[in-house]
Amino acid sequence: MHTSYDLHTHSSASDGAYGPSELVRQAASVGVTHLALSDHDSTAGLEEAKMAAQRHGIQLIPAVEISTTWLEKSVHIVGLNIDAGCDELRQGLHALKCQRVERAEEIGRRLAKHGIDGTFEAAARLAGTGMITRTHFARYLVELGLVPTVGDVFNRYLVRGKPGYVPTRWADLEKAVTWITRADGIAVVAHPQRYKLTASWMRRLLGEFKEMGGMALEVVSGCGHATDIQVSAGHARRFGLLASTGSDFHSPEHQWLKLGRLPALPADLTPVWSAWSG
Ligand code: AMP
Ligand code: MN
Ligand code: MN
Ligand code: MN
Repeated sequence: MHTSYDLHTHSSASDGAYGPSELVRQAASVGVTHLALSDHDSTAGLEEAKMAAQRHGIQLIPAVEISTTWLEKSVHIVGLNIDAGCDELRQGLHALKCQRVERAEEIGRRLAKHGIDGTFEAAARLAGTGMITRTHFARYLVELGLVPTVGDVFNRYLVRGKPGYVPTRWADLEKAVTWITRADGIAVVAHPQRYKLTASWMRRLLGEFKEMGGMALEVVSGCGHATDIQVSAGHARRFGLLASTGSDFHSPEHQWLKLGRLPALPADLTPVWSAWSG
């Protein structure tokens, strides 16, 4: 049977544009057969996504993308095929949710000092019951007409050194890997090229990650540039990591990040799904 995997996507349970059902519908319509919903620090969309996947005849792999801090750096860890009911994971994610609300309030205060009022309330309204993220602030500032695009808001207001940036210590990397492992999931280092690490820092990250029980690397990520794939494949071979593939789809506005449109994994690597599909 033909298979097509997309193991990193977002819904409105975090900063994705679509609700879980709509995301699943769109994934099925472009031919994805195995979809992981991996919202930031949240598993709240998984039930709805699972039911939608049954209706559309595709497999939903329950997942989460955990925000972690490793040596002062932000690193995202996707947990694939998790048991979302695991207490340890739930407690960890609950703490991150509280932290996100506190951070968002502080972003609101800082932007207010900078002359833009009411952004916390507006971002919270856009996030609804989902996790509040910087993307919600960015969408609101675009809505206000203050800044043309979400990307511009990040560059002007929300990244390090800008007025609305709030430094945050996320979950400890080792703890996040442990929560995922306890929840019977596979921990994956997401979008490795995004961290702008030198080769030796990347080797250090992956070596420590593996010792913590981490098992996989997102070798094909985002739009899947050929050189990024080659570099990541080299890391996966060196550290004996399973290979994952995911678009990190959020919204159709990101024209370059398309749901389910991913180049193949290098043939010599072991795909991450071999860990659960035998
Ligand atoms: P947060 O986890 O709240 O810090 O928000 C991070 C999210 O913002 C990421 O998951 C991306 O979806 C989005 N993001 C980060 N940097 C940018 C950027 N430069 N342009 C657009 N979106 C971004
Ligand atoms: Mn995001
Ligand atoms: Mn990420
Ligand atoms: Mn993501």
